[in-house]
Amino acid sequence: MEQTKMNAACRESKNGAPPFEETQKADIKSMTMAELERFVTEELGEKKFRAKQIYEWMHVKLAGDFSSMTNISRDLRAKLEDRAALTVMTKVQCLISQIDGTRKYLFRLGDGNVIESVLMKYKHGNSVCISSQVGCRMGCRFCASTLDGLARNLTAGEMLSQIYEIQKDTGERVSNVVIMGSGEPLDNFEAVVRFIELVSDDRGLNISQRSITASTCGIVPKMYELADRDFQITLAISLHAVTDERRRELMPVANKYSIEEILKACRYYYSKNNRRLTFEYSLVKDVNDSPEDAKALAVLLAGLNCHINLIPVNPVKERHFKQSDADSVQKFKNNLEKYGKNVTIRREMGRDIQAACGQLRKSYMDKIQKEG
Ligand code: SAH
Repeated sequence: MEQTKMNAACRESKNGAPPFEETQKADIKSMTMAELERFVTEELGEKKFRAKQIYEWMHVKLAGDFSSMTNISRDLRAKLEDRAALTVMTKVQCLISQIDGTRKYLFRLGDGNVIESVLMKYKHGNSVCISSQVGCRMGCRFCASTLDGLARNLTAGEMLSQIYEIQKDTGERVSNVVIMGSGEPLDNFEAVVRFIELVSDDRGLNISQRSITASTCGIVPKMYELADRDFQITLAISLHAVTDERRRELMPVANKYSIEEILKACRYYYSKNNRRLTFEYSLVKDVNDSPEDAKALAVLLAGLNCHINLIPVNPVKERHFKQSDADSVQKFKNNLEKYGKNVTIRREMGRDIQAACGQLRKSYMDKIQKEG
């Protein structure tokens, strides 16, 4: 039953259009201040300053419904109820790692779809990893998010709400955002750009753009478009291989764009905003973790101001990939450093709570399906 409902919702929400009843109502949480002002004055016939109040309720006070917006007249609240939708999501599950306090959240959206987000606690602050799509259509071989394909795009409001709900749940401020959960952010470009503008707005949550990272599998034309937006965010590129041939075995998107094209786009991005790039490299045993691979990677990235993040591949039960052993990972890092590269090995956060991309959602969906 629940599954049928969800499938219907997926059908209705193709092209990332807001799902369900929200299609009739204005998605005000995804609006910029200027858009909200226009909506409030032109559509609702109210004074402009009302938009500032509503914006503050949504993005600073993190209101979950219109009725809690107490400095707004009952009349206007009724109008909002009627004409606007306030994106809300409900917490379905929250797993807390016994190892490092990482929290993995599963949220249910207005249309019944579920997504996951992760809170990681670091010395320098709280970082939230958000999803940008329900599922993913990129098909990377080692990734659980893509196993069932793409259901739909998330709206900017749904991306914001992941952070808002986590802040409300923990009572702690989020200072860093990584768009590295399920989905390919550059495949949902307009909504992600809108999200970056809203989350870094000083009239909202005011998270510095320098504390935001977006990770892409390398959709080259969109990398140029992002560069032209002149944001101060960090761009992370999932490279995972040093030759196009090997990369195609791991990532279907490599059939479309070559490593050379990606690096050219990276140089353009750097020329525009001067931000050091990050390259992610998931280490898969006997596939891409040899000393020759390390050397080739260093040569490939020579001259680029970048940081390399090594991720020992997180085994997903539907896939056969094995994690490189600790010794090979360390040797890979040492080799890169010999060539002067800046490298970290990604600490495995929350291994005990299925923190690899899409694992929790996948096991939840499988369970629902089984229960019919
Ligand atoms: N679509 C974006 C975000 C994906 S998730 C992108 O491709 O960059 C963030 C990172 O985790 C990506 O580098 C992705 O390739 C990697 N990743 C996904 N599943 C993984 C797994 N099981 N083990 C290790 N890394 C994984």
